[in-house]
Amino acid sequence: MPQTHLQDLSLYFHIPFCTQKCDYCHFYVLPEKDSFKQQLMTGLQLEWERVKPLTQGHRIVSIYFGGGTPSLLGVEAIAKILSWIEGSCHVLSTAEITLEANPENISLPLIKGYANAGINRLSLGIQSFDPQLLKILHRSHTAEKALQAVDEIASAGIKNISIDLMYDIPHQTLDQWQHTLDLAVQLPITHLSFYNLTIEPYTKFYKKKQDLERVVPDAETSLKMLSQGIQHLEAHGLRRYEISAFARGNYQSQHNLGYWTARPFFGLGPSAFSYREGSRYRNIAHLGKYLIALQSDKSPVDFEEKLDDDAHLRELLAVELRLMQGVDLFTFEKRHGPLSLSILAVMQRLIQEGFLQQSAQRFCLSELGKNFYDSVAAEIISESC
Ligand code: SF4
Repeated sequence: MPQTHLQDLSLYFHIPFCTQKCDYCHFYVLPEKDSFKQQLMTGLQLEWERVKPLTQGHRIVSIYFGGGTPSLLGVEAIAKILSWIEGSCHVLSTAEITLEANPENISLPLIKGYANAGINRLSLGIQSFDPQLLKILHRSHTAEKALQAVDEIASAGIKNISIDLMYDIPHQTLDQWQHTLDLAVQLPITHLSFYNLTIEPYTKFYKKKQDLERVVPDAETSLKMLSQGIQHLEAHGLRRYEISAFARGNYQSQHNLGYWTARPFFGLGPSAFSYREGSRYRNIAHLGKYLIALQSDKSPVDFEEKLDDDAHLRELLAVELRLMQGVDLFTFEKRHGPLSLSILAVMQRLIQEGFLQQSAQRFCLSELGKNFYDSVAAEIISESC
């Protein structure tokens, strides 16, 4: 097939191992054990054999190892997975290949190993540079180790470095947030995501939700933290290109851009999501059951959802509006099909209420809409006129 006809595709691998579970974490996470790693590699290889034929006619534009803490899997295993892909798929020479890592489990030789294996982007879970807040989150790194880790990644020759930060942490003050931002902008990073902490069910935080809610920043402080973060990062060259993501130059996350613009992706590993042809599905969130299904030549998927055309369009629109550049209606409809009159009416109402802005065919969030994105998305998805 000529290369110009190849459709863009992304791959995601869920590596569920962590050295300890953070008190706010709601992901599927397992302790780091050799036997678990072997089971995962067996499962991933079997799953790859099922997925591989479906990748024909596509070109891989991004590969993402997420988790968990994928850097715990080891250089040899990551290199092996990449060799399966490169041996059977068209991988763009410019493909972004990201590995998530935590500061406490990386070292200069390890990062060099990952770089040699083909990793060209590192995403580091830092969350805060404040020792007290790191303790509250039950993270096992120190601020010093986080700073050192970024320097080691840069000196290992990986230029594309992303870090994650968090606000709305219990007891967090505006000064502590500013201190974290001050340190972050001095680092040799290309990308930064920041999120507000949410207390999710099935976490240690959830068990003490009532107590914690008394000590998290109030709504006014939270909004100040958000605007303080945006202003500070933009003033230091990290441009906001999505609700929670900031990049220097052209270093937007190619993988995440795919999620926001409906690029198909296959997710492999326990609890991994996939999206293709308007369907979203998820693998069993249990390593043992995931492996048994694959060894019995069965699909590891335990949840599948195909939205009807209208619901699918509303969701695609809401997700793409996360991008600061907004949505070009002409391009969107050409690609996905025409929006119904009732969705267009909701958008007009959101413009009148000041949440959206329109310029010619392009719709984007206003400043107000950026602060209340979740409500804007809910209105579009539920289509209440
Ligand atoms: S490091 Fe990340 S994935 Fe692991 S327990 Fe903490 S928050 Fe969860």
